[in-house]
Amino acid sequence: MRDPAPVHDLLDWYDRNARRMPWRISPSDRRAGVRPDPYRIWLSEVMLQQTTVAAVKSYYEVFTSRWPTVIDLAAAEDADVMAAWAGLGYYARARNLLKCARAVAEDHAGVFPDTREGLLSLPGIGPYTAAAVSAIAFDLPETVVDGNVERVMARLHDEHTPLPTAKPILTQMATALTPQDRPGDYAQAVMDLGATICTPRKPACGICPWRTACAAWEAGTAADLPKKLPKKRKPTRLGIAYLARRVDGAWLLERRPDKGLLGGMLGWPGSDWGEAPQEDPPIRAEWREVPAEARHTFTHFHLRLTVKTALVPMDRAPLRGDFVELPDFSPTDLPTVMRKAFDLAKDA
Ligand code: SF4
Repeated sequence: MRDPAPVHDLLDWYDRNARRMPWRISPSDRRAGVRPDPYRIWLSEVMLQQTTVAAVKSYYEVFTSRWPTVIDLAAAEDADVMAAWAGLGYYARARNLLKCARAVAEDHAGVFPDTREGLLSLPGIGPYTAAAVSAIAFDLPETVVDGNVERVMARLHDEHTPLPTAKPILTQMATALTPQDRPGDYAQAVMDLGATICTPRKPACGICPWRTACAAWEAGTAADLPKKLPKKRKPTRLGIAYLARRVDGAWLLERRPDKGLLGGMLGWPGSDWGEAPQEDPPIRAEWREVPAEARHTFTHFHLRLTVKTALVPMDRAPLRGDFVELPDFSPTDLPTVMRKAFDLAKDA
């Protein structure tokens, strides 16, 4: 880096260009004394992990209108929260969300601890979330490093060590820049810079407030950074989903075990997911195979689900799972892969 990146240039830029987000307090409101609600900042940060701002907004609105405070969320039924989270993915986050809300309600009288250490002591809050909530909700000089910040730091310093090896170096660089003044706005400003100007493919260096300090801009290497180690190819797993419908319209569903993929979510009973899934129908029936597969990609593998459907009489008892009658069944309560299977089956 040629000069230390002038933090105030970035903050000036943020004052004019901060993205509007439902959980965010704008720089002008901050100056006027408005303080963020730690519950909303925490909720948004948990939702934003591995997910885009655009995908999170509608979920955030639903959660904050149904459960406006952490005490309300703590008192919610598990099944209602899991259903409201359906489609957002990474379902362990929803289970941890509830655990954390209940710990705040029961052990902290509904008030989030206002230190990084206090936040870290809560279930489901790791170093990233603790730093983000400390900085954004409590304006503490904690360093928040997400993918946007890593990219900006790599370019600002023309750092060519590939990710993920470069993570500690980039974190150190980000820490060195974190100011004591307005650290919350600063944390959000770097993320906004990465999301809107210093974007992965075509950074808009011409309008960047850090251009004169940026080593990659000077070297002409911005678009090649950050370097990344080649990704491993994802394997493909196969599975079978059984969608049984009773003659009264009720669907046979099964709640998945809390531990593991899609843990705690409602779904279609099915086989194991692997190289050669074994038939394991949840009820005796004449199964028909839908002529298309439900395909979905998880973090570590692609899944191809064979979808089988059957119509069963009222008096046929399932071997596992429970029939959910129509008024209580909503496909939006299902995780995305299960919804894809439903979309294929309902038209078959
Ligand atoms: S000058 Fe370009 S590469 Fe450097 S921080 Fe700004 S947008 Fe990113």
